[in-house]
Amino acid sequence: MKKIAIIGGGVAGLSAAIYALRSGAEVVLFEQFGLGGLVATIDKIENFPSYSSVEGWKLASDMSAQAKALGLKTLRQRVLSLKKDGSHFTVITDKDAYSFPAVVVATGTSHNKLGIEGDFVGHGVSYCATCDGAFFRGKSVAVAGGGRAAVSEATYLADVCGTVYVVTTQSEFDAEEAALNGLLSRTNVVPVYNADISQIIGNDGDVAGINIYQDGKTRTLDVSALFVATGARPVTDFVNVDGVETARGYLVVDGRGETAVKGLFAAGDVTNGSLKQIVTACSDGAKAGSFAAAYSATVKED
Ligand SMILES: Cc1cc2nc3c(=O)[nH]c(=O)nc-3n(C[C@H](O)[C@H](O)[C@H](O)COP(=O)(O)OP(=O)(O)OC[C@H]3O[C@@H](n4cnc5c(N)ncnc54)[C@H](O)[C@@H]3O)c2cc1C
Repeated sequence: MKKIAIIGGGVAGLSAAIYALRSGAEVVLFEQFGLGGLVATIDKIENFPSYSSVEGWKLASDMSAQAKALGLKTLRQRVLSLKKDGSHFTVITDKDAYSFPAVVVATGTSHNKLGIEGDFVGHGVSYCATCDGAFFRGKSVAVAGGGRAAVSEATYLADVCGTVYVVTTQSEFDAEEAALNGLLSRTNVVPVYNADISQIIGNDGDVAGINIYQDGKTRTLDVSALFVATGARPVTDFVNVDGVETARGYLVVDGRGETAVKGLFAAGDVTNGSLKQIVTACSDGAKAGSFAAAYSATVKED
């Protein structure tokens, strides 16, 4: 019999569920909060094919309803550990332990925060330039961070926004030379080295500027948005399975969404796939859900 567990109820996990359920599998989805993941928190989405504009909660609730109508069983539990015992995987949660022949990990990422964002998230503070850059077309914006993520986010924004300040606490950026040269060749990019962002200034609840502390002085940059690019961490701390490969912490999967361990699949932002977006997470989920379901039917009981 086909039976799989999915860990994480964001769009990757929900897509995996839809594909596995439609192939006749029994699916148990573990989600620590409500279904929808990050998408449920996004104000407006303008790049998901078929909608020119859709609120995140609407996309998340439509996808959840579709999976539930197909028979999805959801357990609102936090997964603490995933282990392999013989031919099966053991999922240990904050409530119980369960055994499955195949598992899809779709737990996404956790973004590093500056600690000063407060209520400005979604009101000018963003963790994703590809997602939100277009809302600030032609306007001055700032990027916080000095690594490859900051360089990549700032390069994207330089093509969309007005002046792009890139504020780093370091004396230089830490990124590949070609990427860095690409950024610094843009005439609208202003690097700000050795600086701390000390405060976000608001106007009617939206970002209107940031205060930066540099060379013993505080000054204000008038920007409409602050993109925080100080890194994200894939949520994999509960995966205790020998043989799983990672790249910079992200789960490495093949073209079918399978890790190096048979029966263990992954999808969405937690994987090493490029372009971390809703449409790619759905595509990953479709593959992982389908192939995990097919694999589970081949596993004999221990
Ligand atoms: C501010 C912002 C705006 C964005 N805007 C857009 C946009 O406009 N367009 C676009 O295409 N993309 C956008 N993105 C990117 C998009 O949201 C992600 O690529 C997508 O949500 C990834 O889905 P996922 O299912 O892989 O992960 P997530 O949505 O992160 O879901 C992971 C789920 O796993 C659960 N989980 C984690 N650990 C455990 C555990 N131990 N036990 C149980 N459950 C667990 C979490 O609670 C969460 O629900 C945006 C991202 C951000 C941060």
